[in-house]
Amino acid sequence: MKKEIIICLLSLGMLTSCGSASSSSDSKKTETSTADRETIFQVSLLQGLTLGDYYGSVTVGELKQKGDTGIGTFEGVNGELIMVDGTVYRALSDGSIETAPDDETIPFANVTFFDADEKQELSDISGIADLKALLDEKVEKLGKNRFYMVRIDGIFKRVHARSELKQEEPYKPLAEALATDQREFSWDNIEGTVVALYCPQYMNDLNAVGWHMHFVSADKSKGGHMLDIDIDSAELKIDFTQGFNMLLPETAKFPTLDLTVDQSEDIKKVETKD
Ligand SMILES: [Zn+2]
Repeated sequence: MKKEIIICLLSLGMLTSCGSASSSSDSKKTETSTADRETIFQVSLLQGLTLGDYYGSVTVGELKQKGDTGIGTFEGVNGELIMVDGTVYRALSDGSIETAPDDETIPFANVTFFDADEKQELSDISGIADLKALLDEKVEKLGKNRFYMVRIDGIFKRVHARSELKQEEPYKPLAEALATDQREFSWDNIEGTVVALYCPQYMNDLNAVGWHMHFVSADKSKGGHMLDIDIDSAELKIDFTQGFNMLLPETAKFPTLDLTVDQSEDIKKVETKD
């Protein structure tokens, strides 16, 4: 009974097959098809989460049918979600990592099946602004009106990340919750993976425009929503993604949210350091 919105982007004059809204019964069959691998699947709107709709609408198990790589959060904003190689990890409020159970629910996430369409060696990057500038330059060349999922693997000089305490009902708006319940951590010389999503400008009412990055260490012991990074050397992989498939949640709260309010300032506040 889940409603899905599918938007297909046309790129390089090639028609991309949208496929039909996939139900769990046909997801097994379609998950290996080209169209599905080239789709960003989104659970709800970030703007719902920022207004305090922390109620989960898909399970971790269902999310795994839609991708093997991605970012998001859990019911009650119970930690940051990082999906790498098909496993869903939770970064807890102390920066430690645990594997999320398949029956836990998710209020907001973006995932895709990751295929590296382009690779590049990275070196000497000082700060997340430098990294974003480099990635923006790539997007400028590749086309800024489609989605990109990025994966960066390496040994990083420094990673600064955050997670947050699980929220209790009644849920406050996210900026308010993070003002008291966000926790930050830094790690030096840490091996791991950054998963980053790029959303085009026209996603302004549905997600954060530009880059949203999460980190998990190679030994799967540390991670979070990434606020800053210094890179000595690492490998960048970019997955070009033409399709966008969004699930509207059937939570009791979702239909009552006032989504006419522009939340770009609040989103900037919750996504970045300053
Ligand atoms: Zn995040």
